[in-house]
Amino acid sequence: MVDRLGRVIDYMRVSVTERCNLACKYCRAASDDDCERRELSKTDIIRCAAAFAALGGKKLRFTGGEPLLRKDIEDIIGGVSALRRYDDIALTTNAHGLKDRLRGLITSGLNRVNISLDSLNPVKYRALTGGSLDEAMRGVNHALELGISLKVNVVLTPDNINEADDFIALARENPIEVRFIELMPFGPYGSGHMGRVTNQDIIRQRPWLNPVRQPGKTADICVIEGYKGTVGFISPVSRRFCGGCNRVRLTADGKLLPCLGDAAEFSLLEALERGDEALKEAMREAIYIKPSGHCFGGGFEPERAMNRIGG
Ligand code: SAM
Repeated sequence: MVDRLGRVIDYMRVSVTERCNLACKYCRAASDDDCERRELSKTDIIRCAAAFAALGGKKLRFTGGEPLLRKDIEDIIGGVSALRRYDDIALTTNAHGLKDRLRGLITSGLNRVNISLDSLNPVKYRALTGGSLDEAMRGVNHALELGISLKVNVVLTPDNINEADDFIALARENPIEVRFIELMPFGPYGSGHMGRVTNQDIIRQRPWLNPVRQPGKTADICVIEGYKGTVGFISPVSRRFCGGCNRVRLTADGKLLPCLGDAAEFSLLEALERGDEALKEAMREAIYIKPSGHCFGGGFEPERAMNRIGG
């Protein structure tokens, strides 16, 4: 559907849980204490996906929290795939536990996976996320073995900018899109460090990267001769892309957020009770008034940590 500013909104990011098995410094508090335990059921998630498809939705991404913590994520993806309305069903994960489940996820209908990877140094990875680099790399390698389309997300911070060349080398050696994502002001770390390093710092020092903006995409992409993969830059802070934003977010507790960098949220819970037409109408109303742009840097302090939205 088209919002009040003429943007085509056809992409929904669906958070299936706020819980996570890691505690990335830039994302959330170190415990699950503040997580909402009431999560949309598989049936209600599939109903929301069906309603969004009826409004013109073409692409879904499952995220969280950590989506693999949902034991029914395969069934959710299977149910959405069975709608036969989405040509793109993706998952964003920290890849802990992915190796044992990826084949099943693909069988259910998953066609793309993004793996978060914020350091290639095991000690630093643990310090940034609380997790195991070996385990994350097992997921990366298995995705490569199975041949599923793979992106690696690197949230750029003052702690990992010195690894930029190592990440770029991952794209040289493997058919991966390695994407540097600028830090947004979530949690104390994000608020304190946002803007201290930006993608432009990486690009300025490596003019050969030559990123190109693609219409309708958030990432500026570098295609580099001799590389098996590509390098992407997602720059919400230094090169915002709100004018072409095509997405909304469904939270695990049933709210529709038209913009990641704005406080507006619309509960779908009542509409879910009233029926599918009411659900479609509630989504239509929320999407139509999507804000013109995010308020990061303008004093906006998000009330929800990123794990409670679904990055
Ligand atoms: N647990 C999964 C994971 O680690 O990929 C999915 C949830 S995570 C919130 C989704 C994405 O949000 C990840 O790619 C993560 O890197 C990104 N993210 C989280 N906090 C962020 C921040 N403050 N700024 C920019 N990106 C952030």
